Amino acid sequence: MIKMRALVKEKPEPGFVLKEVQMSENLEPDEVLVKIKNVSICGTDLHIYRWDEWAQKKIKTPQIDGHEFVGEVADIGSQVSMVKKGDTVVSETHIPCKHCIQCRTGRMHVCKNLEILGVDRDGVFAEYVKVPEIVLWKIDKSIPIDFASVMEPFGNAIHTSLVTELTGKNVLITGAGPIGAMAIAIAKHAGAAKVIVSEPKEYRIELAKKMGADLIINPQTDSVIDKVLKNTDGNGVDVLLEMSGNEKAFRDGLEVVTNGGEVSLLGVFSGNLSFDINGLFTFKGLTLHGITGRKMFETWNIATNLLKNKIIDLSPVVTHKFKLEDWQKGFEIMNKGESGKVILQVE
Ligand SMILES: [Zn+2]
Ligand SMILES: [Zn+2]
Repeated sequence: MIKMRALVKEKPEPGFVLKEVQMSENLEPDEVLVKIKNVSICGTDLHIYRWDEWAQKKIKTPQIDGHEFVGEVADIGSQVSMVKKGDTVVSETHIPCKHCIQCRTGRMHVCKNLEILGVDRDGVFAEYVKVPEIVLWKIDKSIPIDFASVMEPFGNAIHTSLVTELTGKNVLITGAGPIGAMAIAIAKHAGAAKVIVSEPKEYRIELAKKMGADLIINPQTDSVIDKVLKNTDGNGVDVLLEMSGNEKAFRDGLEVVTNGGEVSLLGVFSGNLSFDINGLFTFKGLTLHGITGRKMFETWNIATNLLKNKIIDLSPVVTHKFKLEDWQKGFEIMNKGESGKVILQVE
């Protein structure tokens, strides 16, 4: 038995408990045991921490939560061939079934039977985790460890931004949380003409500035529609990257996408939306890309190359680091919206 510290959702209630748990060291033939170095806190983990309606429906207790991590391969199952002991690895958090029609036709990222680490099964807020080798992605030691542990959300930003061509386009990003902030730098590097951001929170406005936004609009004090039109010769933007999950932000965003434009949708809304889909969408001839997770493993390859070659600097986004023991501080600071990505150091 492996004895380890883990952050556990013990009971169906808010919070976690840091405690010693046991895990069998036996591995399935395709399984890998990873010793975790760093984890980072995701919005999903906040939902679980707060124990909101979504978490209550989705999470079975007791469970170890968390899914974003970097670690080192500690042991491998008998059939594992893609990684070996001592490799530094990051991981796709969506575990594909390998059998459904999507998996068999090169679209594993939209697998019908997807299992999510730290949501549908035990996660990574612990000293060790077991995962099937298919989700692991070996990385070069030249990538700073704090950037490696946020490669999963960085991948969200990459997939959302690069699902369409951005070169020479005007882009509106609604929401500058950590993923929106990363998308700013990605869009700039992809050659976007103007990257406009709408964001109400002061902390995130600063983050957007640091990541290179050309114009930031605070929807609480300014009209997003007026400002975008004024800054795009009255045409509106070519591409909308929706990262906020806020209905008003999305609606304003659609309003200013130029006819024939594209919309990439990552934000998750808390309920059903109601707006004029004919006027805002159909008759404008917009194209919608729904984004779930990352492309396996095209996105990971791009993320690796961008970080390894220092094309994008994630240091403005990775704002806090705590020891695992101080997990509560990390969750509280995120809960207040006064942070970028928060890392918990496990090792
Ligand atoms: Zn996440
Ligand atoms: Zn599948």
